[in-house]
Amino acid sequence: MILYSTQQKSSDVSFEEAIFRGLPPDNGLYMPTEIQRMPAAFFEQIHTLTLPEIAEAVCQNLLGHDLSPAEIKSIITSSMTFEAPLFDLEPGVQVLELFHGPSMAFKDFGARFMAAVMSHYLQKHQREIRILVATSGDTGGAVAQGFFQTPGISVTILYPSGKVSDIQEKQLTTLGGNVQALEIDGTFDDCQRLVKQAFLDEELRGQFNLASANSINIARLIPQSFYYFAAYAALRKQGNQKPVVFSVPSGNFGNLSAGLMAYQMGLPVQAFIAACNENHPVPDYLASGIYEPSPSVETISNAMDVGSPSNFVRMQILAGAEWSKVASLVKGYATDDDKTKEVMADVFARTGYIMCPHTAVGYDGLMQYQAENSGDYVGVVLSTAHYAKFLPTVEAVLGQRVPVPQRLADLLDLQKKSVRLGTDFEGFKAYLLA
Ligand SMILES: *Cc1c(COP(=O)(O)O)cnc(C)c1O
Repeated sequence: MILYSTQQKSSDVSFEEAIFRGLPPDNGLYMPTEIQRMPAAFFEQIHTLTLPEIAEAVCQNLLGHDLSPAEIKSIITSSMTFEAPLFDLEPGVQVLELFHGPSMAFKDFGARFMAAVMSHYLQKHQREIRILVATSGDTGGAVAQGFFQTPGISVTILYPSGKVSDIQEKQLTTLGGNVQALEIDGTFDDCQRLVKQAFLDEELRGQFNLASANSINIARLIPQSFYYFAAYAALRKQGNQKPVVFSVPSGNFGNLSAGLMAYQMGLPVQAFIAACNENHPVPDYLASGIYEPSPSVETISNAMDVGSPSNFVRMQILAGAEWSKVASLVKGYATDDDKTKEVMADVFARTGYIMCPHTAVGYDGLMQYQAENSGDYVGVVLSTAHYAKFLPTVEAVLGQRVPVPQRLADLLDLQKKSVRLGTDFEGFKAYLLA
């Protein structure tokens, strides 16, 4: 895979260079120069393939020049260790459950795969890197779990003390080994500033191979395309031949961009729904052709509180670049907190199924699409996180206690191990050098 920068001001790079750089020097985004369609035979047999088999075939198509079939197999075997099953919710609505990984959110797919490919290249060149990440909650858990025990990589995660949920904190602080958690007596912005400053510090750069695990890394997007194919395969396996509409709860639009990559590889899709909360610059753009990012607004689906989505340009290019093309393939809908809660309560009352707030926004996006579009199609709502990750909100909305999966309950019992630091750079630097 050869990648160019969307800013067009820096040169093309290999896949390996793109994943270790994360961002091009001109601050654009890396995009594949070409995305080939999957062979017809793949779609003919797709209903017989497992998720890892689909992942291998897609990787072969995208990365066949970068990695040998055996290397691809080993990367997939070590990273795609959980399922993405479809749940048959009600007639015409299936839920694609993306929360069966270690941090119980879809970001596990990206983090695990990125860890596996990075580790592959590091072992090949006998190099080591130290990853620094600042997290406000969700991303850190996926990165911590994804990179845990990965050869060649140590991870330092900074999080704001007292400002992440119990579950999130335990996901960051109970692993140990190559994952260190720093509890900063400050805000998320302080954490981010410390990380940025470390990347600019000559002494630290001389001492370590510092790297980031940025959410816009192309290695996080690729594995997120696998489960769109897997959902299609599961529908075909059920004998369902209807056209498919994917509803994607969106914030930075990485997940939706990955769906569009699958579309570019030939996956038949009737439409993608950009399901947003009260942060809706993309639905506004899809309706008007005018893109106006804005400051973010806090909502109960907080992993989608993004006013200026970092993957917007990628989404636009992958959906056809011109507004008319983008808007004919991607339909945008917004759902506010009141409606989100109503949907969570209503779905639970009718079906017994519990949705996290993000998933409920996706469900409501599909309902809005259905109200405007008749016809025979199947809607697939991407469930981006397990409801138990948002326990206080979910229990308040449903007005009752809800079951917590054993895995999360066990996690809450583990002892937290973190190092507490202030917000001054010198203290942080001394910690890293020690
Ligand atoms: C990150 C996240 C999203 C948003 O995904 P994007 O790829 O940023 O659009 C939605 N739901 C959950 C639970 C998330 O963690």
